[in-house]
Amino acid sequence: MANHPRAIDPRVRESRQRAYLSVPTLARQMPSISEIAVELRFMYETGQPFMSPYRQIFVPDMQAYFEFQCPDRDCSGAGFDMTPAISAAVRAGKEEISGTLKCRGSKSRTPCSITLDYKVETRLRESGN
Ligand SMILES: [Zn+2]
Repeated sequence: MANHPRAIDPRVRESRQRAYLSVPTLARQMPSISEIAVELRFMYETGQPFMSPYRQIFVPDMQAYFEFQCPDRDCSGAGFDMTPAISAAVRAGKEEISGTLKCRGSKSRTPCSITLDYKVETRLRESGN
């Protein structure tokens, strides 16, 4: 039987790092945006909070990388990809969107049950004349 160590495989970490660095900055990817605020609320399937909600702010000189890792340390190969939701909001010019994503990972061979309730607020750059 394979023995899976708990620590994140350094190759996984490295590939995440590479993925992060390979995406363009927010300024290049979404030039109309001055700020994106993402509010993350991780919950068990039952709706009980897994941890305190937190906000992450993206500004133009940051990488447009919207993958969030599952907060459950026993969960492997997982995460929440906010890229489609954020891209859609920006394309549609929506100032606020919200939704729910389910973790794609698994722990001890059963699907992870962590869900993410998110809210995304986008702020447009002031267009000077
Ligand atoms: Zn998970």
